[in-house]
Amino acid sequence: MYTALRLQRQLRAELDAGTVEIVVVTPDPYMTYRPFLPEAAAGSLSPRHVVVPLRRVLGRCRLLIGAVESVDHARRTALLTTLATDEEGSGPAALAYDELVLAPGSVSRTLPVPGLAEHGIGFRTVEEAIGLRNHVLEQMDIASSTRDPALRDAALTFVFVGGGYAGVEALAELEDMARYATRYHQNIRPEDLRWVLVEAAGRILPEVGDEMGRYAIRELRGRNVDVRLETRLDGCEDRIAVLSDGTRLPTRTVVWTAGVRPAPLLAATDLPLDERGRVRCTAHLTVEGTAHAWAAGDAAAVPDTTAEKPGTPCAPNAQHAVRQAKVLAENIAASLRGRPLKEYAHAYAGSVASLGLHKGVAHVYGRKIKGYPAWLMHRAYHLSRMPTANRKARVLAEWTLSGLFKREIVSLGSLEHPRAEFELAASPPPDPDPEQSS
Ligand SMILES: Cc1cc2nc3c(=O)[nH]c(=O)nc-3n(C[C@H](O)[C@H](O)[C@H](O)COP(=O)(O)OP(=O)(O)OC[C@H]3O[C@@H](n4cnc5c(N)ncnc54)[C@H](O)[C@@H]3O)c2cc1C
Repeated sequence: MYTALRLQRQLRAELDAGTVEIVVVTPDPYMTYRPFLPEAAAGSLSPRHVVVPLRRVLGRCRLLIGAVESVDHARRTALLTTLATDEEGSGPAALAYDELVLAPGSVSRTLPVPGLAEHGIGFRTVEEAIGLRNHVLEQMDIASSTRDPALRDAALTFVFVGGGYAGVEALAELEDMARYATRYHQNIRPEDLRWVLVEAAGRILPEVGDEMGRYAIRELRGRNVDVRLETRLDGCEDRIAVLSDGTRLPTRTVVWTAGVRPAPLLAATDLPLDERGRVRCTAHLTVEGTAHAWAAGDAAAVPDTTAEKPGTPCAPNAQHAVRQAKVLAENIAASLRGRPLKEYAHAYAGSVASLGLHKGVAHVYGRKIKGYPAWLMHRAYHLSRMPTANRKARVLAEWTLSGLFKREIVSLGSLEHPRAEFELAASPPPDPDPEQSS
């Protein structure tokens, strides 16, 4: 989205003259601002406000809602499936292009843990964030109405695997929300909820550095979160999470946030990939040794020209992705006009993470900040980064309203089955008693 946005500005004259066309292929007609997913899960922001409608912001681009299945760059052709090709049953459609921009991002990196594929919950999309919120509230409903103590304990045990910012922020926001929701359940006390964070390394939140990572652990443990370092999830079959330290946790909730791997599309291209499966790029954001191909974001191995060790690739995060996108767009425009290309260079500024309402941790430009100031900084930073004035205003309005009123604790899990009630109403009445009717 950021590349297309900058490109439609840079190539305004060419677009007006009809000599250039920008085509964006995307499975969803919106861009998700992922750093706000934990707040969406906690109910501080509504799902519609953490996404940006592409049709509105990319008014000069042609949007194709679908997925690229493969790219044959030697022939400058991409094969894509769209809702229309699915309906027509005609198979993937070929799209010819002159310049290729590959930015399909990443997907969850899963491991062959027994039961994970069946029971694990991801946390990368707005649907997953809202689904998890509904699920947590539903578990509290189950726990408050069951007479089976084992079922109650399992319903109130929430296991998160992976202590990066996705896992820590998601756990911290949901724990905060669920603790608040116990006020409205007469038979659930905050201490009945069991939150477990499982991390394979000896620290969490590496993005904020060791000291702030240790602070985050203390903060979470102070809230009764069971943080297990140097521990892995070995299995989650039969609704039991088995940890590498031998612990067996009956649970109905296993959230998997243990890292990312490049989008599967990359393996279906004829472009050079590094050992992790990312497209090999130059600092100009061109694909190594390939003309007319560009890449950025989580899917691209772009050399970090500011790193001490030459050849270190940029980390897969939004900070790099957004900045690379702008340079990429400017370089495409420059190359079309025969001008020299710019190198991408961005020294990592640090990171901010929310640990729930009014709590946070930050390590920015060498300064370590914790507690309320870090949380404020987290909100201010992400508000400034949220694209479009429209979305900024909506997010700000929602924060203001949630500061004035009580938290939202409603679960709308039934939204996931919108036809259920009508199906029940429309289903044939049960058979009359055969004995009476004969
Ligand atoms: C919960 C969470 C919180 C995060 N918080 C932060 C944070 O605070 N700070 C930070 O810097 N980073 C954060 N990140 C990481 C950040 O979101 C990513 O680094 C960033 O989104 C990468 O941008 P991208 O454009 O490369 O990929 P994406 O944002 O993933 O975009 C890729 C797009 O390509 C689409 N796509 C994939 N395959 C195809 C295909 N075959 N055809 C067509 N389209 C395709 C995808 O649907 C997606 O829309 C967070 C991530 C998560 C999950």
